[in-house]
Amino acid sequence: MANEKAHKDIGLETIKRLSTKLRHQKDTKEAYAMIASELNDILEADYSGIILVDEESPRLKIVGFAGMPSSELPSLPVILSDPEYRKTLVLENGPVSRRFDSPEEIPKVAQDWARALGIESGILSTILVREEFLGYLVVARKKGEPPFPPETEQLLEGVSDYFGVILENVRASTDLWKAKLEADRMLSLAPIGIFTCDQKGIFLSVNKQMLKMLDKDSELELEGTSVFELPLIMKSGLDALIVHGMEGHEGEKVDVHVVPRPDKAFYLHAKVVPIRSESGDVDRVLFVAMDVSTKIRLQNQLERSYEKLTQTYQELERVTKMKSQFIDVVSHELRTPLTVMRGYIDLVESEYSSKLEPKFGSRLSIIKANTDKLYALVESMLDVSRMEKGSLQIHLEPVRIDTILEEIFKAREHDAEEKKQALELDVEGKLPLIMADRRRLKDVFNNLVDNALKYTQEEGRIQVGARDEGRMLHVWVKDNGVGIPLENLGKIFDRFHIVTSNDLSHQVNRLGLGLPIARGIIEAHGGRIWVESQVGKGSVFHVDLPKEVPK
Ligand code: ADP
Repeated sequence: MANEKAHKDIGLETIKRLSTKLRHQKDTKEAYAMIASELNDILEADYSGIILVDEESPRLKIVGFAGMPSSELPSLPVILSDPEYRKTLVLENGPVSRRFDSPEEIPKVAQDWARALGIESGILSTILVREEFLGYLVVARKKGEPPFPPETEQLLEGVSDYFGVILENVRASTDLWKAKLEADRMLSLAPIGIFTCDQKGIFLSVNKQMLKMLDKDSELELEGTSVFELPLIMKSGLDALIVHGMEGHEGEKVDVHVVPRPDKAFYLHAKVVPIRSESGDVDRVLFVAMDVSTKIRLQNQLERSYEKLTQTYQELERVTKMKSQFIDVVSHELRTPLTVMRGYIDLVESEYSSKLEPKFGSRLSIIKANTDKLYALVESMLDVSRMEKGSLQIHLEPVRIDTILEEIFKAREHDAEEKKQALELDVEGKLPLIMADRRRLKDVFNNLVDNALKYTQEEGRIQVGARDEGRMLHVWVKDNGVGIPLENLGKIFDRFHIVTSNDLSHQVNRLGLGLPIARGIIEAHGGRIWVESQVGKGSVFHVDLPKEVPK
């Protein structure tokens, strides 16, 4: 019993030693070869091997061998691993060993193989891990050597007993190594530069991106170099950030201008993180940097565009102001002499027209019509100017929209007939009286109908309609005329905007003041005006008027 314990202890010792040796093993094959050679030494064998069940097929496979180079090994006969037999092995609750003290005792399947290697005696011990049979550890001696003593058998059992631990160790450390390789690969591909340095600033590791940033071709160029020897780090002020990290603080610096070569410059966003040892002291500094040149370039471009935009806006504002002042001055200056002129024309007309030669009579009518037009224009300009100043007055009185529409309809019927256009009025149901500025609303709807007649070809159709929509009265003027291009839709309510691309752009009397004034008047009533239009199909102007004018 004591003997058995001693062997178990030796087994445990061996495992411990192997585990330490295997800790940094990156390759499973090398790890198994190392274990086999260790077995060879402690068990004084000529050959040692690890035979495991292949995970993909139920075959046994030599995974590690010591005693001769694996390239010279004759291939192991195919030994199928019998699942039933495996179960009986597992029931044993511990490793089972079998010894062969003469060539005849060697299992038949392996006899040729053993002969080729000159094996005369050996021991096989099962490897079991958590109720699973994994394979065998095997040691053998050549011809001329005595068979193994019984202690070797116990020792091998001892080692096999703990072998599962080793196997898991090997697998874990190789998995870990693979994961590290993958992490390194990812880091080298990452669009961020990374380096670590020790407390003196000596580079410990540098990834590819960082080498590029530092203008170096390989890590070797930085071996033994301190970060503080690099002019690029010192000139850009990044040295202070690294020192900050060495002092145990995390830190970052944005938009650092870095110039590694006179013909190369970029901006970095850099961060440092101190890395502490188990004792808590900072023993390394991690430096991470990202090239943010594109962001800075865009930002600069944006700033420049913003400046330009502001300038343009200011200029526009100046011109708009000038335009407003011009309208204001011109309309005021023209209004008085025009009023005087209209007075005189009326006087001449009433007092002298019967005495004038017909030729002069018709000329006087032309003068009067044009003066009236000029006066209407000056009035429109004044309205625009009032709207801009917010001083457009509306005089509320009880108004029936259907009556206004009927009046307009009657007044424009003749114009429509002249152009062979169908002018239709359709008021749905009875409309209530509302409080509104009668004269100004009439101007608005008259203007919409006027435009519909103007911008619709001969034989076109103009439909004017209205209905009660609860809180609002809805009025529309629909035509199947030239329509308005999409790019102009948002602008026709701006003063002096006219569409020059439509088929009827030769229309005279176009000023682009009617719609802005209409909008000003409708909005002064707390309402809304908008348009739907398609080139070649026609337009619909909509007006919503609240039944109760907001206070
Ligand atoms: P004006 O008709 O005096 O030019 P408006 O402000 O009334 O000024 O109209 C602005 C512009 O909107 C017009 O020049 C015209 O190009 C376009 N427009 C207005 N009404 C219509 C319509 N019913 N169909 C097509 N275009 C229209």
